[in-house]
Amino acid sequence: MFEGLTERLGTIFDRLRKRGALSEADVNEALREVRIALLEADVALPVVKDLINGIKARAVGQEVLRSVTPAQMVVKIVHDHLIEVLSGGETDEKLRLGEGAGINLNASPPVPVLLVGLQGSGKTTTAGKLAVRLRKREKKKVLLASLDIYRPAAQKQLAILGEQTETATVEIIPGQDALTIAQRAMDQARRQGFDVVILDTAGRTAVDEQMMAEAAAVKAAVNPLETLLVADALTGQDAVTLARSFHERVGITGIVLTRVDGDSRGGAALSMRGVTGCPIRLIGVGEKLDALETFQPDRIAGRILG
Ligand code: GDP
Repeated sequence: MFEGLTERLGTIFDRLRKRGALSEADVNEALREVRIALLEADVALPVVKDLINGIKARAVGQEVLRSVTPAQMVVKIVHDHLIEVLSGGETDEKLRLGEGAGINLNASPPVPVLLVGLQGSGKTTTAGKLAVRLRKREKKKVLLASLDIYRPAAQKQLAILGEQTETATVEIIPGQDALTIAQRAMDQARRQGFDVVILDTAGRTAVDEQMMAEAAAVKAAVNPLETLLVADALTGQDAVTLARSFHERVGITGIVLTRVDGDSRGGAALSMRGVTGCPIRLIGVGEKLDALETFQPDRIAGRILG
């Protein structure tokens, strides 16, 4: 079983038996344990390095409060730092506290929302969950469109999801390319007064050039307010490459982390936030269509630290 960071640091500081301010040597020794904890939580290596530097800068020279042990003090500093990195500023805060959309919809309707990500990451499920969330909490009229013309069943899968969730989906017209379907969806939304159009793009098993080019072309054509990278919380060291490729080639505005109900420790959240600077907007916490929650940095930070 995983030993929490507090206990591990406790052992170190017991040995040091130190009080007063945290010296650089104390902090370095503690940071070795913090580094291991972050790597065990599957935070990607380059991100771990940045975090460690940030934490060190905060910790050295801090007075250890009377009420806590040095170990508790370091854990608090690490925790605060992780939350700061994960939450990133006022914009996220506003969205979290917002009416429950969890994503930015502040534009005149129809507002396009583009979902990108690898195949199997949970994009289509997230499209359905988001539609339910926006309808129930925000009373939005949502139109769903699958732009996946490569997997024969993909458009049908979204149509079925539409029926299950009582959400409109665009008509399936065989032979149309992704861009044409996206534009058709926007036209229909304008004509029929939809508030939000959720565009579910095709995914591949690995990042490839054609997938990126297609997603970028759709983005340029419809100018979505949100381009959300849907990624599995179990993505380990690959999270950095994944998030960076999508951010550089398509340009994302936020991340939806799926399968947070699994046994991952949530390190991917830190990795992806770290390399893109984009907020984690929502988390998927199950297969059911209501299992979509707003992201709470403190919960993930707690999970990462154990
Ligand atoms: P896509 O290929 O990216 O469109 O992925 P799908 O939406 O088809 O999802 C792939 C599988 O992951 C399906 O079996 C979903 O039910 C499942 N899934 C999606 N999101 C979650 C989640 O948050 N938690 C769990 N446990 N399963 C999920």
